[in-house]
Amino acid sequence: MDLSQDSEQQSAVERIVVQEQKVADPRQRRLNTGGHIAENGKSGSAADLDDLLRNRFGHDSFRFRQQEVCEEVIKGRDVLLVMPTGAGKSLCYQLPGIARGGTTLVISPLIALMEDQVAKLQQSGFRAERIHSGRERNESNQVCMDYLDQNLDFLFIAPERLSVPGFPELLSRIKPALVAIDEAHCISMWGHDFRPDYRRIGGRLPILRPVPVIAMTATATPRVQQDIVAQLQLVDFVPAISGFRRDNLSIEFVQMTPSRRIQCLTELLRDDARRPAIVYALTRKEADHFAEQLQAEFLAAAYHAGMNSETRDSTQASFQRGQLDVIVATIAFGMGIDKPDVRTVVHTGLPRSIEGYYQEIGRAGRDGLLSKVVLLHSWADRKMHEYFLDKDYPEPSELDRIFRILTDTPRSLQELADQLGQEMEDFERRIEKLWVHGGARIDPDENAVRGDGKWRSSYERQRNYKIAQLELVSAFTSSHNCRMLDLVQHFGDTEDSLQPCGICDICNPSACIVLQFRDLSVHESEVVKRVEDTLRAVDSQSVGKLFRDWIEPMGLERKEYERLVAGLVRAGLARITRDSFEKDGKVIEYLRIRMTDKGLANHQPLHQVVKVVADLQKPRKGTGSSSSGKKAKKNLEKAEGQFGLTRKSLASGEEETLVTALKAWRKDVAQKRKIPAFKIFQDRALNSLVDRMPVNKEQLLDVVGIGPAFVNKYGDKILKIIRSASNEP
Ligand code: ADP
Ligand code: MG
Repeated sequence: MDLSQDSEQQSAVERIVVQEQKVADPRQRRLNTGGHIAENGKSGSAADLDDLLRNRFGHDSFRFRQQEVCEEVIKGRDVLLVMPTGAGKSLCYQLPGIARGGTTLVISPLIALMEDQVAKLQQSGFRAERIHSGRERNESNQVCMDYLDQNLDFLFIAPERLSVPGFPELLSRIKPALVAIDEAHCISMWGHDFRPDYRRIGGRLPILRPVPVIAMTATATPRVQQDIVAQLQLVDFVPAISGFRRDNLSIEFVQMTPSRRIQCLTELLRDDARRPAIVYALTRKEADHFAEQLQAEFLAAAYHAGMNSETRDSTQASFQRGQLDVIVATIAFGMGIDKPDVRTVVHTGLPRSIEGYYQEIGRAGRDGLLSKVVLLHSWADRKMHEYFLDKDYPEPSELDRIFRILTDTPRSLQELADQLGQEMEDFERRIEKLWVHGGARIDPDENAVRGDGKWRSSYERQRNYKIAQLELVSAFTSSHNCRMLDLVQHFGDTEDSLQPCGICDICNPSACIVLQFRDLSVHESEVVKRVEDTLRAVDSQSVGKLFRDWIEPMGLERKEYERLVAGLVRAGLARITRDSFEKDGKVIEYLRIRMTDKGLANHQPLHQVVKVVADLQKPRKGTGSSSSGKKAKKNLEKAEGQFGLTRKSLASGEEETLVTALKAWRKDVAQKRKIPAFKIFQDRALNSLVDRMPVNKEQLLDVVGIGPAFVNKYGDKILKIIRSASNEP
């Protein structure tokens, strides 16, 4: 359990300090220790700011948006700052703090983070201090006195500190120059990492006003942003939400069954230009397994929470130094490092949330050079996540069992776990949730007492939100829009161009390194034509309605239809936009499809223009000419054989022959058995047979609409027909 958060244990210290401290006239003090810009910084000129930037912070120029934000904060405006990790948010409070003079109060969620930032500021010659539960009382006491003596530029505290009786009053005696709230998404239940004490910050601010407040986070959707603003009661604030677009990340989404992923991964990393690389796996077991497999060809290692921290640290350090080529991680690997030349980030499964995904791909291409970001996913991953979610966010009843045995008498976690007959690990996970939502209080010696009963509704809301996030990731992977644009819009970036990126798998299929494309089958051409004709007639249409009204009757599955829609979008002929309508007071979102100008102007036959994603890919020609490459290729072929992956794709003429042959056979059998042809198999199955070209009975069973009885009875015959159509021996 993470008990590194600050606790309320030290209230007495601050009370004493408040009572004993004789405070000098703040104005007097301010003149002595002084703001760097006259009159409490209210009119910092650009030259002053440049001077501060260079001389105190050692940077030559401002980065994107930093200067404007600094100017606003110096003027005394509140700011909501949402920019990606590494964008340089800290400067946006540090420089204005110095410019305004006095102490900047920084609220930060983790001791480690505080220690790190304080150390950095001290190294740069600033007077920075911190108060948290990891420090001795006399040290904290001294820091309070330093604050009151106006001897600090920066004071870091955990949010819990503001709940300590007397502490906000102490701060208000000499108001800080500025209040900076780092990782502000913790305020919101809808955020990444909700912390109830963050939620209470809003209530403590009035006593410190009119001091400006800057709330910073790298990960806040519009909903989280609204929540932050509401909780902190920011009224006239400056929103600075930008920088989410990454021009040099070429994103590629690939639907792929889990068993094939390691092979794909090995293949794609083989190109030297694609390393160093970070691979994200869904489970520790998978991370270990992948790392082991990759070690045959690369300098690879795993990185996950199941390893001890020394091994993790040394793995991270080796990667940073270039002694490792590939890291296979399950958790937020790379938090502490800033490796500029990561060329590829691969997710070997569906991510848990879009926010997490964005953070992870953000570690690619920090040097600005083109980098590849690949996501391998399938529906099976969803199940895995649901399992995780149940573990991490147990049913409320599980928490209730714990809540009911808690009393006002502190008892050790071990004792409580034993009473319930639960493994300590499971128990801790549950009680931690209870603690987060206020249902339990835990002291640093790991003794728990009962909290208040309001935890339940708060926890349920958070849990439901996590479930909704999974829905969102799924929708994200099945979108047909520019991948980068989807991301930028997810974060509600207000300053983005909203243009397609031009380099993702949707914008530029030819840049794909895993996906392969094929021509349309005859039947598919007909469907695409139908889509086009419909859209020309109605201008735009809901993607779902178009399917139900026109395409489903043609015997096509939704999945296959989506593939064709994606083909139209990739060819630049159609565009998908989000739309919504209201029903019974609820807003229902859906997707609309319309032809683009290019699509309307197009007079070429569609099957010549539109390509669709091929089901299975063969090893790429030209990759890995080295002997290890050849060996790997052989292995790949072997693996493909083993998984039954080899298949011949048909030219469309051959395809027609196969359709005709299958239909003829079907008619024949139907007549003999005196039943309608569709009772043998439906067109849907027929299309699927042509599309997938099964080579054995197992694969035949995979075809939708074909069952074991059919395979027993007719399997050999069908396989023979397919073989002869593809001219295979
Ligand atoms: P964030 O909090 O947004 O994740 P940080 O504030 O930690 O990012 O900044 C990331 C890195 O960028 C730090 O090493 C910081 O020193 C550096 N940095 C910030 N602003 C500038 C600048 N204007 N010029 C050069 N480096 C900068
Ligand atoms: Mg930061």
